[in-house]
Amino acid sequence: MSCEVLALTEELINRQSVTPEDAGCQQLMAEYLAPLGFDIESMVFDDTTNMWARKGASGPVFCFAGHTDVVPSGPAEKWTFPPFTATQHEGQLYGRGAADMKGSLAAMLVATKAFVTKHPEHTGSIAFLITSDEEGPFINGTTRVIDTLEARNEKMTWCLVGEPSSTTLIGDVVKNGRRGSLTGDITVKGVQGHVAYPHLAKNPIHLSAPAFAELVQTHWDNGNASFPPTSFQVSNINSGTGAGNVIPGDLSACFNFRFSTEVTDKQLIERVTSILDKYDFDYHIGWTFNGQPFLTDSGKLVEATQGAIKDVTGRETELSTAGGTSDGRFIAPTGAQVIELGPVNATIHKIDENVNIKDLAELAKIYEGILQRLLA
Ligand SMILES: [Zn+2]
Repeated sequence: MSCEVLALTEELINRQSVTPEDAGCQQLMAEYLAPLGFDIESMVFDDTTNMWARKGASGPVFCFAGHTDVVPSGPAEKWTFPPFTATQHEGQLYGRGAADMKGSLAAMLVATKAFVTKHPEHTGSIAFLITSDEEGPFINGTTRVIDTLEARNEKMTWCLVGEPSSTTLIGDVVKNGRRGSLTGDITVKGVQGHVAYPHLAKNPIHLSAPAFAELVQTHWDNGNASFPPTSFQVSNINSGTGAGNVIPGDLSACFNFRFSTEVTDKQLIERVTSILDKYDFDYHIGWTFNGQPFLTDSGKLVEATQGAIKDVTGRETELSTAGGTSDGRFIAPTGAQVIELGPVNATIHKIDENVNIKDLAELAKIYEGILQRLLA
């Protein structure tokens, strides 16, 4: 089993699938799944290749979700081993996507084969929702597959996303939710002029600074048992002509909320607007909504995952909602229970990304254990 997970991970790493390219990864997965009884549906939307594979027609539906695309390697000469040639070294497997998340994809395949071989008459269905657009703009990936499934009322009961959730040891952390994300882009209008004649100008930096100070100091919520308090961060602020004697004519800034289930995007927008409106300046603000928070706080999927991790590793797992967004945000609104479990995330997106080879084998056993608990 362990050799097979390793070999499949290597084959996937060697396919240079920089987002939104799939580079034949889904073909490899389809060829593995079809003989196990899966119906394979390729869903291509513009530049993005997606795969929906399903074995069984009845519920409950257990779905593995993940992505075949990877982030760019960065300068290849800075890597110890070539980023798109999987290389084993001292118990680790190196290559772009080793941890995020080609190792998980390989473990899903091997776990599924082991499970359906032992339980050809298992209950319900097993499915795979795989995209090549998770690391990119996430327009034509999971969200569109979900739209397609929803349109034909095809639902999943449980979804396991293979994102690298573990912190130091495999299975030590499982993500059972994610914070929401909301971005604001603001432009403040002033009047350009000479610094020596401020009465003839309107300085957008001076006008907006007190409003930013209030936004930064605002307490948005207290969080709750599953989520830390909502955070507000200014990520960009630009103004000025470069000259020391010119009052700038405008200012632009960008900020982002990572928010808990205690507030909604609408409430945050209202509160920001009411703070800005207290100050006397002209502005325009545009909002980008990146995803609702979601939470699977309990239920069969959480229990099965915790139980399988304990069986294979002896470890008690920690449920966490920390970290960035994931495709789970598109799946959870359908009503599915969603959790994320994958390898240690210490090197993801970095030079020399790698994964522990033994962890991959354990991950496959954990995935199989989850199937066993839910569908045997
Ligand atoms: Zn990922």
